[in-house]
Amino acid sequence: MVPSAALSNPASKTTPPARNGVQPQDLPSVDTLLRAAQIQPLVAENGHTLVASETRALLAELRKSAMAGHLTATQTTPEALAARLAARVDARLAPRQRAVINLTGTVLHTNLGRTLLPDAVLAHIQRVLAHPSNLEYDLASGVRGERDDLIEPLLCELTGAEAATVVNNNAAAVLLTLAALAAGKEVIVSRGELVEIGGSFRLPDVMQSAGARLVEVGTTNRTHARDYERAITANTAALMKVHTSNYAISGFTASVTESELSAIAHAHGLPLVSDLGSGALVDLSAYGLPREPMPQDMLRAGCDVVTFSGDKLLGGPQAGLIVGKSEWIARIRKHPMKRALRSGKLMIAALSATLRLYLRPERLAHDLPTLRLLIRPVDSIEATARALQPALQAALASRFTVDIVALQSQIGSGSLPVERLPSAGLAIIPVQEKGSGHALTQLAEAFRALPMPVIGRINDGRLLFDLRCLEDVTLVTRQLDALRLAAA
Ligand SMILES: *Cc1c(COP(=O)(O)O)cnc(C)c1O
Repeated sequence: MVPSAALSNPASKTTPPARNGVQPQDLPSVDTLLRAAQIQPLVAENGHTLVASETRALLAELRKSAMAGHLTATQTTPEALAARLAARVDARLAPRQRAVINLTGTVLHTNLGRTLLPDAVLAHIQRVLAHPSNLEYDLASGVRGERDDLIEPLLCELTGAEAATVVNNNAAAVLLTLAALAAGKEVIVSRGELVEIGGSFRLPDVMQSAGARLVEVGTTNRTHARDYERAITANTAALMKVHTSNYAISGFTASVTESELSAIAHAHGLPLVSDLGSGALVDLSAYGLPREPMPQDMLRAGCDVVTFSGDKLLGGPQAGLIVGKSEWIARIRKHPMKRALRSGKLMIAALSATLRLYLRPERLAHDLPTLRLLIRPVDSIEATARALQPALQAALASRFTVDIVALQSQIGSGSLPVERLPSAGLAIIPVQEKGSGHALTQLAEAFRALPMPVIGRINDGRLLFDLRCLEDVTLVTRQLDALRLAAA
């Protein structure tokens, strides 16, 4: 090993060797370090800019610990410095957005990115985005085309709509629809349907941003057809139904169906708009799941415009889909806000490839990860629990017990809020009662610090891992050595 003096400044030769540590003046200069044989491969791979800036930062850090008298000669060998520098460079280049393992029990977890894109979709994105594409180009005629043309025919076929368009997310779809159809005018909505989704989407606020005036009718629990009828004036632009996707009102309730409401709207020459939120494109009850209203149901019931998300039950990328009658879709498409909210080629590639999977409904439960996870049989989840339990128990040794437990998963993303899916998982409980709360938070932290972070939830003195979304148990088991070190 080369002693650290080999890399130090010539000036420091006059300094007597430190008795209890490396002195600041013994540290090499940035240039000396960058020229060292041990550092050169790092520079060759990553270039001078990044390695030099990390070298400067590392030396500043070392100078501080030298001044505090904490720096030893073994920490400043060229090998040790090269290793620390390589680690710093790796950390700088590591993506901030990382793949994680979702064991929260919520399948469509908004904070964890909702849907998982199907393999076929990922392959299509890779193929089509590495090259120019016919995003707005008609290959048959060789003239300018519309990006909607890549999505609209398929979306119409799948939903039975006359016309369709796409924007960035469903919040944008609602905003644009209201701005195009009702700016400066009134929209009638039931009080029971003034939803807030995750704090940042509140229907009254969206309505205001679109320049439309909200006219609330009925009461929280009961709204009748006559409530809507009485509220219609010369200033009314539309009637609106909002799917109460993240709550349920039960008990003494009444609401007006889309069919009844469309008859009222059409008698006055008004459109009926439906914000569906999730919008499953297939009947989920056929898969043993609770039924979620579909855009095709809404259109059949007479809705003129229906908006829904691409990354909820549809299982695709973040997108806002707008389907309905040609007349209204044309107005929506012509609105200047459409240009501001238009979807990029990345999303169009992902959405069109996802929609194509729906052409083979028999394969959907296999091809669409979101659906596959939602309908995963509980015995398959239990098998994962049995496979993971011994390895996890061994890794956590005597500090925690790991039990297989029955759990209830949620669909998430405001879909089917009161429904629970029978599931299974592991409950990790500290052996010692004293300080158990702290032990649990620390353990949860250690799981989140793994190379592929594992996200569970703490509930009632236990760290719970719902295994519905863990299809490959090795994703966790191969990280258990790192966990053992972290939890030690
Ligand atoms: C989720 C949801 C939205 C917002 O959709 P995003 O795609 O997240 O923008 C709007 N309305 C309802 C009813 C929803 O459930």
